[in-house]
Amino acid sequence: MELIDQLKSEYSEISYLQNAAALMVWDLRTYIPPKGAENRAEALGYVSTLAFKKAVSDEFGALLSQLNERATQEGLTDDEKAMVRVATKAYKRARSIPPELHHRFSVLTSKSERVWERARKENSFSSLEPYLEEIVDLSREMAELYGYEENPYDALLEGYEEGMTARKLRKVIEPLKSELIPFVKKILDKGTHPDTSILQGMFSKRAQEKLSRRALKFIGYDFDAGRLDETVHPFTIGIGVNDVRVTTKYVIEEFTPSLFGSIHEGGHAIYEQGLPISLKDTPIYGACSLGIHESQSRMMENIVGRSKEFLSFFYPQIQKAFPSNFRSVSLGDFYRAVNNVKPSLIRIEADEVTYNFHIMVRFELEEALMKGDLKVSELPGAWNAKMREYLGIEPESNRDGVLQDIHWPSGMIGYFPSYMLGNLYAAQIYAKARQDIPNLEKRIEKGDVLALVDWLRKNIHAVGRKHEPERLLKVATGKELDSSYFLKYVIDKYSEIYFI
Ligand code: ZN
Repeated sequence: MELIDQLKSEYSEISYLQNAAALMVWDLRTYIPPKGAENRAEALGYVSTLAFKKAVSDEFGALLSQLNERATQEGLTDDEKAMVRVATKAYKRARSIPPELHHRFSVLTSKSERVWERARKENSFSSLEPYLEEIVDLSREMAELYGYEENPYDALLEGYEEGMTARKLRKVIEPLKSELIPFVKKILDKGTHPDTSILQGMFSKRAQEKLSRRALKFIGYDFDAGRLDETVHPFTIGIGVNDVRVTTKYVIEEFTPSLFGSIHEGGHAIYEQGLPISLKDTPIYGACSLGIHESQSRMMENIVGRSKEFLSFFYPQIQKAFPSNFRSVSLGDFYRAVNNVKPSLIRIEADEVTYNFHIMVRFELEEALMKGDLKVSELPGAWNAKMREYLGIEPESNRDGVLQDIHWPSGMIGYFPSYMLGNLYAAQIYAKARQDIPNLEKRIEKGDVLALVDWLRKNIHAVGRKHEPERLLKVATGKELDSSYFLKYVIDKYSEIYFI
């Protein structure tokens, strides 16, 4: 057998195991009977470890090093070269951490997640503090082992967004800060604020579900290759080819969280449904990066879902679903209400204008922790100071501050920037799609989102992991990452909404 065919066959075994693990995760997070969860979690751990062990085995390493030899490389197609590149990078990264450190870190983080749940409930940062200290210590140790050029933080960032560095992030953050801080102030001081009380009421779960399904269909989600279920914490999960599932959460007093949540998850899901089937079970069948993944969900949720065009088509259906609530509410009032800007303490409740500030707070703090410029004990104070600086508000308790996210207790330092990158990528990619597709806005106004989806399929989804995120963005949009697209998008949109 040719070496590259060996790689494909080894990799298909890895992906079958990953499919099995994903199905177990989906079940654990949706419908598993409560008593079954403990045993299932053990089985899941075993299956995931099998996949991991296979991908880091000496045999797999030997195969990859043969594939990386020049003579072999010359006989490979571009796709095959990409498979070798992606598999080799993942292999080296995983192998650079000794198994015992890996084990220590996963035991520590699963404990610390449980401690965090209580610490948050009891508003007690001090009970989490020793765990975070150890997480930072081990993360610094791992960063040294992964290796980096300039900044230990970069070594962690690399695990979520290949090629990204703190320096590059700062470059895109600076203009966001200098433009958006005064812009938010202007909105708050001079803007005409929408009436958001029109969004409150009683909304039956059944009607909400129907609406979510309808919206998902409009954005191109294929129900024959997925399903929609209900959970406490909404998520999307790709179980395998033609099986990408989404979940949402229904709140009776308000239907917009389920609607926009479904559209958000739908954006993630159509990305995975659009991955190149010809490359299935290979290392490059997958999303390019977390940031690119998030760009697809945010584009659908915010740029499309909360646009005047989409709503001018979809709002009549909302009125039909909830006639007593919206019969006498105009499209304009509804559009403005779902685009309300309000600095909030909680990241996941933030609007599109203020969201990135939440990420800047976290990015600057976690980078300082990694560089040793900040101690864990100083986190709550530093958090509050940054919140005041960027958002003009400060939490009264750590529960609404430094304790709100699970990421740090889970050991995911370096994850947060991908949310912000998602916003920036989305605006840049959408700007290019708008240039390429004639009358895109008019089409969306008529309910045709599929022209956009087709463009995304071709330029983003079908690429899988053939390119690194930086290259994908360059090929798809012709430009390097540039925050001015996002700035123009939010400033134009919200100046109109707030009459400023
Ligand atoms: Zn998302």
